Amino acid sequence: MIIEEVNLYKIKMKMKHPFTTSFGTEQNREFILVQVKNESDLSGWGECVTTERPLYIEEFTDSSWLMLEKFLIPSILKKNIEHPNQLQDYFRPYKRNHLAKSALEGAIWDLYAKSENISLSKALGGTKSTIEVGVSLGIEENIDNLLNNIRVKTEEGYKRIKIKIKPGKDVEVIEEVRNHFPDIPLMVDANSAYTLKDVDTLKQMDQFDLMMIEQPLTAGDLIDHAKLQRELKTPICLDESIHSFNDARQAIELGSGKIINLKIGRVGGLTQAIKIHDLCNEENIPMWCGGMLESGIGRAHNIAITSLTNFTLPGDTASSSRYWDKDIIQPEVRVENGLLQVPETPGIGFKIDMDEVLKNTSTTKCFN
Ligand SMILES: [Mg+2]
Repeated sequence: MIIEEVNLYKIKMKMKHPFTTSFGTEQNREFILVQVKNESDLSGWGECVTTERPLYIEEFTDSSWLMLEKFLIPSILKKNIEHPNQLQDYFRPYKRNHLAKSALEGAIWDLYAKSENISLSKALGGTKSTIEVGVSLGIEENIDNLLNNIRVKTEEGYKRIKIKIKPGKDVEVIEEVRNHFPDIPLMVDANSAYTLKDVDTLKQMDQFDLMMIEQPLTAGDLIDHAKLQRELKTPICLDESIHSFNDARQAIELGSGKIINLKIGRVGGLTQAIKIHDLCNEENIPMWCGGMLESGIGRAHNIAITSLTNFTLPGDTASSSRYWDKDIIQPEVRVENGLLQVPETPGIGFKIDMDEVLKNTSTTKCFN
């Protein structure tokens, strides 16, 4: 297929509730949507899961926009793309910028699946028709708010609860949660807030029967994570550490963790995501798919990748209504009793609500 046109939309959407991690608090989500069109005027959509400021990784919305505009879109515009795997060759000269690459690649994967008249899940090699999801709860100043959030989400049927932690908001919080909910599948996410100096604090978490401790140390610290894992009974799950197939391979070889949280954007797109999936499958490393507070388009891509067999742990793809008053897709993503159905219709399997997209668009640019 020929990539005839690419459109970028800079979106601002206000989340229903502020979300706090050890990186800070967010309520206004600013990100980019990418629309690609082929010669038959079919459209594919991708989401660039950036944030306004480079707090999660080095990219931010304006840097990803520039990357797409100056380098990535010109490298594929008017090109004949037989399969989305080819994009890696076009993008290879440009270093990193994984969120931008992933957004454009994701749009082309959606377009490719639509042109083949198959679901994105099927195009990726997915086999599951239903996926299990958990929910991720931000840090709360007041413990009663957190306990109440857990109660509500458990009653809604989510398959596991993840709570965000940071120094000073950790062992006592987990203890309180466990006192109230002794049996729920529970995990914690530190978003890199600790160092090896905190090993005693982290070891205390072994008593709470956690499914995992996610990303306790800084992203580049594979060696330190390996040292820490040797000290802990609780499995370490790597999130921010895994930017590529090579990161995953080295982390597994070093023993830096026992579980991987894959985010499509962070690893540079679906093609890399499949490679990492296949490696983890061979090495018996369970995986799950994390979230970046996505709109429905990013959520739809997450559902599709989660349909691959080695995503054996519940992911973070909650209902649209958890984050948004109104999502930009139809129907909205709806979790029922902790389960999501994988769409079988062509591409991402959701219609784009263009009125809603345009209502939230601050800037748009057409490349043709
Ligand atoms: Mg995380």
